[in-house]
Amino acid sequence: MNSEKRVKPAAGISLDLDNQWSYMKIHGDEGWDTYPSYFKIFIPHILDVLDKLDLKITFFVVAKDTESEENRKYLKMITERGHEIGNHSYHHESWLQTYSYEKIEDEIRLAEEAIEKATGQRTTGFRGPGFSWSVDLLKVLESRGYFYDASTLPTYLGPLARMYYFWKSDLSKEDKKARKELFGKFSEGLRTLKPYYWRLGEGKRLMELPVTTMPLFKFPFHLSYLIYLSNISRPLMNLYLHTAILLCKLTRTPVSFLLHPLDLIGGDQLKELAFFPGMDVSSEAKVKVFIHVIETLKSHYRLLPMDLYRQEMERKPLKSKVPVK
Ligand SMILES: [Zn+2]
Repeated sequence: MNSEKRVKPAAGISLDLDNQWSYMKIHGDEGWDTYPSYFKIFIPHILDVLDKLDLKITFFVVAKDTESEENRKYLKMITERGHEIGNHSYHHESWLQTYSYEKIEDEIRLAEEAIEKATGQRTTGFRGPGFSWSVDLLKVLESRGYFYDASTLPTYLGPLARMYYFWKSDLSKEDKKARKELFGKFSEGLRTLKPYYWRLGEGKRLMELPVTTMPLFKFPFHLSYLIYLSNISRPLMNLYLHTAILLCKLTRTPVSFLLHPLDLIGGDQLKELAFFPGMDVSSEAKVKVFIHVIETLKSHYRLLPMDLYRQEMERKPLKSKVPVK
């Protein structure tokens, strides 16, 4: 044993800033195409919670939201309070993998320009809507100087999540067909949880930072899932979280922890989404779970926004892989 003080390992933390309209769109609800926004309520709310925790994270922003002046005011607040911004596409369409190279390039470039204009930050990391990705997408990101992609979610449960979502939605047959790869195939579960480089040919590469799921079992342990468990039983959620952390440590799996807006806010504040699963839990109860989870993670990890996490991962001997869809 050496007497040196051990530094806690780094973990990345990010939030996919899906707005009210994208929840409505994915659910097949009318009126999403007028782009209703809950930023006015949600952004000041989460920024205050993060300040209390002295926590800086990455917000993956959908560029469509930069089109309204009202939204831009709230997006600007995020960078003013010291958080990092990532690119979460322009239109938040969960079937990016069906796009041509040129269409992906437009989507990424237009999003990047709009987000930089609105927030003052140039994005250097990307997360695909609905965890969609393709080889062309990785190539576009590399060519535009991105440092990482964070679009993979290694889980076997993707097809199950899709079935559940189709069952709960009012989508037509055509809509379902367009969304047939939503949340990924079963084979996504075989992907590794540890960060690695995609090998893109001609010596080019791009770092992949997968969303962490539970090692071995590949069950999700992002906050939405923990809140769902805490609703059943708080001790169960705690056991699950501690098991996930223990397995990450035993398998030396770095952690990238994922948040969504509805994890921190309930139907009491967002009345329009009150009928969504999990929205019957109050904002206060959700924030309590959030603070508890963050404090637990903090006792094991240094929680960092994604680009600082990426820099830490760069110092490790990472594997590289040829991308196969
Ligand atoms: Zn999203």
